[in-house]
Amino acid sequence: MIKVAIAGARGKMGIEAVHTVMKREGMELVAALDYKEVGPTLAQLEGFPSTYTVPIYTDMERLVADTKPDVLVDLTNPHAVYTHTKQALTLGVRPVVGTTGFTDEQLEELTQLAAQKKIGAIIAPNFAIGAILMMKFAREAAKYLPDVEIIEMHHDRKLDAPSGTGVKTAQMIAEVRAAKVQGHPDEQEIITGARGADFEGMKIHSVRLPGLVAHQQVLFGGEGQLLTIRHDSMNRESFMGGIAFCVETVINMEKLVYGLENII
Ligand code: NAP
Repeated sequence: MIKVAIAGARGKMGIEAVHTVMKREGMELVAALDYKEVGPTLAQLEGFPSTYTVPIYTDMERLVADTKPDVLVDLTNPHAVYTHTKQALTLGVRPVVGTTGFTDEQLEELTQLAAQKKIGAIIAPNFAIGAILMMKFAREAAKYLPDVEIIEMHHDRKLDAPSGTGVKTAQMIAEVRAAKVQGHPDEQEIITGARGADFEGMKIHSVRLPGLVAHQQVLFGGEGQLLTIRHDSMNRESFMGGIAFCVETVINMEKLVYGLENII
């Protein structure tokens, strides 16, 4: 039985993840981590049945000492996630992180820490299998159609831009595509930001609107042709299979992996 703790259990993703772990054979939800006092157990919170008597902690050290989780699933926000992940690794708990917004330096430090401690960690900017396939197909297409623009679209509560998936897509494309300037060499932005963020000449555009969940289009332009690869997460269930897969996989890993595309 894999013992799981969840940070961010009251959030939109967290609520779904709680139900997923509670229902999944071979997993046990032993604790939730919060940053403020919200009640003794999940059963006291809106959205959970009275049978969910899983204790809520505000201190990770105490949580680990009392409930000894194997895995910490983090679905919080970019401000909290780095500290949580580092603390979990230090305490010997394997992090499965869905929260985005790490800097390159933070990722490097966490990678070294996991290697030092010889414990697994998965940071997955996107848990949806379809999104992983979109990134892989985009990398393949960029070999032949190197003019690329990415449009990522998310709900308006999202804190970071571009999305982790948008950046990861650009990074994967950059593995096969030499950096190049796109568009007219003399183009000028009449309004700053009009051409989007720049990643080695690829433009990334971030749309934030209520009603959206998580969507992305990768557009490739060639002479007389346009290829669009699109993925849509219609609801948060699309991420839950990936979370369960990561919890089951991280147990047998001894290093940090960034991106689900590296393990499926
Ligand atoms: P959300 O609804 O805002 O949930 C975040 C929850 O974390 C809130 O309940 C928040 O509490 C809580 N929280 C904030 N700081 C905390 C801390 N230090 N310790 C414990 N809990 C803390 O956001 P969401 O839509 O569920 O998304 C959560 C994260 O997952 C975001 O970073 C999002 O980008 C990411 N995400 C990843 C994927 C993926 O596939 N990897 C998919 C969707 C979303 P308060 O409300 O009181 O602040």
